[in-house]
Amino acid sequence: MKPKILIIYTGGTIGMIEDSVTKALKPFDFTHLMDNVPKVKMLDYEIDNIQFHPPIDSSDMDIEHWKTIARAIAENYSKYDGFVVLHGTDTMAYTASALSFMLSNLNKPVIITGSQLPIGEVRTDGEENLITALQIAADRTVEGTSTVREVAILFENYLWRGNRSTKRSADNFNAFKSNNYPSLAKIGLGIHFDRDALNKIKYPNPLEVHYELDNNVMAVDLFPGLNEKVLRQQLQTPGIKGIVLRTYGAGNAPTWPWFIKAIKETVERGVVILNVTQCVNGGVHTNRYVSGDVLAATGVVSGHDLTFEAAITKMMFLFGLGLDAKEVRRRITIPIAGEMTI
Ligand code: ASP
Repeated sequence: MKPKILIIYTGGTIGMIEDSVTKALKPFDFTHLMDNVPKVKMLDYEIDNIQFHPPIDSSDMDIEHWKTIARAIAENYSKYDGFVVLHGTDTMAYTASALSFMLSNLNKPVIITGSQLPIGEVRTDGEENLITALQIAADRTVEGTSTVREVAILFENYLWRGNRSTKRSADNFNAFKSNNYPSLAKIGLGIHFDRDALNKIKYPNPLEVHYELDNNVMAVDLFPGLNEKVLRQQLQTPGIKGIVLRTYGAGNAPTWPWFIKAIKETVERGVVILNVTQCVNGGVHTNRYVSGDVLAATGVVSGHDLTFEAAITKMMFLFGLGLDAKEVRRRITIPIAGEMTI
């Protein structure tokens, strides 16, 4: 049986062409993209596609687009062995994180990829990324189940867990990295999977898609010099339910009385504040320093080693389930799809 793969083309550099007047890159149609990868035909797969109309630069990615991708997967889940999502790199890690929460009981591969150079360029990385993503989506274990049963990002030499990934370079072909989790596969002469890192859970229940995401959430970044007026303005954003607080080092924040008071008042108002570190590697350990301890005492929740992308989308997901603040505070510290290490 030939592997059956569905490509979902959302846009991104991989399918872009130059605007003839401005020379800026703009999204273009899927036929153009496939015409530039004749080698795909050498794969003995059945490949179908669904495309965004129009395809988008991923800077325009929004919740409605995530729902469209999730719906495309859900409606075609039983018909295909795997899914390849072609996506711009700018918000790829956000989409991967969101989909990992939206797609419960996922037992098939959802491989997201794109490229740094358009597919029509001589030195493009798009051809290799697309072909490798298709091969990974088609890969099976000796028992006949999909090798990858989660949302993952394939880029150049690595396959990463989607909700652990971050775009780390606007230039390098190895544009993504998961700083707190090993790669799921290394791509060289062959595709070398790391069976210990891959999701091992086989979900007995059918795929369940959670379409509701609540975007009454925001990020607050710490920096020396942050003033009370600016912080209070952010914390008092009307309708806000959750805040991802980007702190220093191991989850540390200023111990200034006005700062602690402002944070405490916000928590007492019922806003969930989640502590994630600004560092690219490591996580929050609030009992390591007094400055972290003082923050934890206000009721701010530890985000452990969550990426910012996973933290903000996990908040949208949990509030989208209709949970109250108390329940979101509890559930946000429990891993849903391998996104955090406790
Ligand atoms: N701006 C592009 C996008 O995210 C960048 C890329 O695809 O690499 O759609």
